[in-house]
Amino acid sequence: MTTTMHTAQISKPGGEWEVVEREIPEPGTGHVRVKVEACGICHSDVFVKDGLWPGLQYPRVPGHEVAGRIDAVGDNVRAWRPGQRVGVGWHGGHCCVCDQCRRGDFTMCVQRKVTGIDFDGGYAEYMLAPVTALAAIPEDVPAEEAGQFMCAGVTVYNALRHAGARAGEVVAIHGIGGLGHLGVQYARQMGFETVAINRGNDKESLARQLGAHHYIDASAHDAVTELQKLGGARVILATAPNAQAISALVDGLSPSGTLVVPAAPAEPLTINVGSLISGRRSVAGWYAGTARDAQDTLEFSALTGVHPMIETYPLQRVADAYEHMHSGRVRFRVVLTLHG
Ligand SMILES: [Zn+2]
Ligand SMILES: [Zn+2]
Repeated sequence: MTTTMHTAQISKPGGEWEVVEREIPEPGTGHVRVKVEACGICHSDVFVKDGLWPGLQYPRVPGHEVAGRIDAVGDNVRAWRPGQRVGVGWHGGHCCVCDQCRRGDFTMCVQRKVTGIDFDGGYAEYMLAPVTALAAIPEDVPAEEAGQFMCAGVTVYNALRHAGARAGEVVAIHGIGGLGHLGVQYARQMGFETVAINRGNDKESLARQLGAHHYIDASAHDAVTELQKLGGARVILATAPNAQAISALVDGLSPSGTLVVPAAPAEPLTINVGSLISGRRSVAGWYAGTARDAQDTLEFSALTGVHPMIETYPLQRVADAYEHMHSGRVRFRVVLTLHG
């Protein structure tokens, strides 16, 4: 049996992609080895590529949108067995002993790990993962799609289900890109009156296909005025990384509405606080979720027919794949495929 595998790594901040051969690692206590079938390329992988994560150790194999099969288990692994399909996402495990964990809020663990940042991720034929990072993948979700639900998917799904909107209320998705195209589908499937907001009309027919009841072209119309014609949005999920555009949307909220921002724009927001006060509105961040939240996302997606739009590349073409993702020409997510 072969004892080595291919991985794609970055060996220094700002370094180039290197496809190298490494020993296949053995899982330690509480860990499993995953034979990786697919791994999404995420905008957050720039933290590894460009050295933007304080204290990051190199060389590092990125990748936190992983789908594959358990291939070996370490000691003290009880609920997982070889052959099981699993996903590994941004949430790379928690300590189970800090105060947040003792309160059951594992996502907020003070020692939480991030897959592909604190330990090697899924740009590899095999990777190790702690059991606290594992989600079971339903049989009818293909591996190339499953990885997407482990980061982009769980982020928007979990944000939407915790944002306070009830069935029938207006929920707007701002930006129809990697996060937004999933957000529109989830909002529709969760029973919200779904509004897609984007600049231009080239994504209108797609947004409607994905389930949007309304489409607002923010370059031709004032998004706030259009949202207020619908009574205001109970929730606006802002996924376009444009601080000015996001800030302006506060006035498009209904009373008690929430503007949720799950991905950080480069600039700070400038919020009209009078609007927050007079409408009892709020602005909130959202941080991904646990592995079980990701499994909920997978199960809901399988149940309701939510699919990411992806383009696939083999691991050997990681540099092209990464560039394509950053070019903005991709519709909408790039996935590396491994083992076949
Ligand atoms: Zn990601
Ligand atoms: Zn903890």
